Amino acid sequence: MRKSLPEHPLPPTPARSRIMRSIRGKDTAPELLVRSALHRSGFRFRVNVRALPGCPDIVLPKHKTVIFVHGCFWHRHIGCLKSSLPKRNRAWWVDKLRRNRARDRKAHATLTAMGWRVIVVWECELPTQPEAIDPNRWPSIVRRLLQRGRSVRD
Ligand SMILES: [Zn+2]
Repeated sequence: MRKSLPEHPLPPTPARSRIMRSIRGKDTAPELLVRSALHRSGFRFRVNVRALPGCPDIVLPKHKTVIFVHGCFWHRHIGCLKSSLPKRNRAWWVDKLRRNRARDRKAHATLTAMGWRVIVVWECELPTQPEAIDPNRWPSIVRRLLQRGRSVRD
């Protein structure tokens, strides 16, 4: 029990719930973007691998690498504008998102201990207009992402 929380945290507003449903879950736009970039660059991978801790979004078995494509809000990208909390039901969100982060950290640590390289790509790091990018640039963009040792700022 955290003393900072109200006794009965309020649920999110209906509008928020709708946003939640549309953003959460599999195959989000940022995920699809990273996948298609990897594909175009000749990588072979599996998606949403439940057998691994945290159900990584993308797994490159040959490279012993997992990639999480994180939405900035849901995964609490610290210092990122996209992760600012709603004013309503703030305590509820603080608690919920804190648990999300704790879950991420645990999954990443377990994967690392298992010998996987863990890469986190934040939504805000991806181009907002990917269609405007010269297709020839994708392999170098992907290489840069994959060169990350472990998650940055996480
Ligand atoms: Zn961000």
